[in-house]
Amino acid sequence: MQQVDLELQGKQQELDEVENRLSDDKALIAAESKLASQKEQLKDARKKRKSSEWELEDLQEKVKQIDSKLYSGRTKNPKELVNLEKEAKGLKSRISTQEDTLLGLMSQAEEIEAQVKVSGEEFERLKQEWQKRQETLGQKKNEVETVLVKLRENRNGLSQQIDSEALDIYERIRLTKGQAVVKVERGRCQGCHITVPTSQWQKAKAGDLIQCNSCNKILYLE
Ligand SMILES: [Zn+2]
Repeated sequence: MQQVDLELQGKQQELDEVENRLSDDKALIAAESKLASQKEQLKDARKKRKSSEWELEDLQEKVKQIDSKLYSGRTKNPKELVNLEKEAKGLKSRISTQEDTLLGLMSQAEEIEAQVKVSGEEFERLKQEWQKRQETLGQKKNEVETVLVKLRENRNGLSQQIDSEALDIYERIRLTKGQAVVKVERGRCQGCHITVPTSQWQKAKAGDLIQCNSCNKILYLE
């Protein structure tokens, strides 16, 4: 009975551990949220790049219009021509600044794109590992559960064979001390190492239920 109980305890612990590991998806979730936030950054960077492109196109369009006014010959007024040239010059310098900004935004977006790629691969890798682990652990869980069922059946069978008074004593000691049955070796109780009187261990050997005078555990001899 004690053998079965110890085994049951061990298997139950094993099952708890397997279940803990089955539900542990912290690394996967962390990788997923990292990827999601980088994708969000990428979206943002692309939006900025796009609006910078539009701004640049706007400026280029304006310069084109001014240039065509300047070189069409339709504008004769010298003052107006000077103003147009001034305006064109100002726009061209804004274009050059805008081009620099756009280049910066482009390389920023590229950088984030590369990060998203790395994080995406990492996430996929973790997901596959996790799935594989789920499978192995799931199998392990089934195995342990099968063993547990057998052990419980075994225990039921045993408890029906044991006299109910003895079973009560056994359960009481087991609940308070963990292990209820101890061996007597060289005349000593292996639970507390106190010498067991000869008459006691002889009765235990004969099959009587004898408890140690000192630690109260049930004694047995081989
Ligand atoms: Zn003892």
